[in-house]
Amino acid sequence: MGGNSNVKLIDDNGIRIDGRRVDELRNLKIEAGVLKRADGSAYVELGKNKVLAAVYGPRECHPRHMQNPAKAIIQCKYNMIAFSVGDRKRPGPDRRSVEISKIISEAFEYVVFTENYPRTSIDIYIEVLQANAGTRCAGLTAASVALADAGIPMKDLVPSVAVGKVNDQVVLDLQKEEDNFGQADVPMAMIPRTGEVLLLQMDGHLTRVQFDRAMELAVPALHQIYAAQKDALARRYAVEQSDEPEDPATSEPQEG
Ligand code: ADP
Repeated sequence: MGGNSNVKLIDDNGIRIDGRRVDELRNLKIEAGVLKRADGSAYVELGKNKVLAAVYGPRECHPRHMQNPAKAIIQCKYNMIAFSVGDRKRPGPDRRSVEISKIISEAFEYVVFTENYPRTSIDIYIEVLQANAGTRCAGLTAASVALADAGIPMKDLVPSVAVGKVNDQVVLDLQKEEDNFGQADVPMAMIPRTGEVLLLQMDGHLTRVQFDRAMELAVPALHQIYAAQKDALARRYAVEQSDEPEDPATSEPQEG
């Protein structure tokens, strides 16, 4: 968050540098079930962000001291790969990826019926292939579809989007330059049906009035993302029904 209001990011007609209006989402594409080996998977493009999510489990949790006898634990690993950003990103975990992994795990602990699977772990892997701001939101949106694709019972799908402030205006779905030179970045995730907020972070400052405006922009966008998530799952099942049932022993060359 540069907070540098001298950089003009919205023109006099209210058009942003990538041609969007303040209440417009970037192009969104969601595919469910893109990986064979994972129990569930999804691929999301949000503008120039490209994110892959894979889910394994519920499976017996190791090491055993991490098991919870009352419920499943959810372990998320968010990772940005080396070529996902302009300058090569130093591979491996850093403070930022640890934070994002934690907040995404916590969001899903609230929606997944973890008490159905005591002593197990549900593992979510999020790989950011290309980053352009808003990757935690794209990752959470993808992970939610991947969990559904894995057949894991949940209260609902969870869409996620960021709202922010640039040139003193509240805008939806910040892209990279807006994130760099803007005044605030507010990622959020919500169950649209109930209005329950599962993620809300704020980098920068919004006044109360600006925050209300941010919610006004976010809620319809979250409904739009939710519809795209459901559509991706519906397309995935449509394909599956038209396919011949496949024998996992012969459908792919075996390893080893
Ligand atoms: P989010 O991707 O959820 O918006 P941030 O606000 O922390 O998370 O990051 C904004 C953007 O900054 C990222 O989407 C990415 O484009 C860029 N970025 C983050 N970390 C790095 C890094 N280590 N090197 C280069 N660019 C980065």
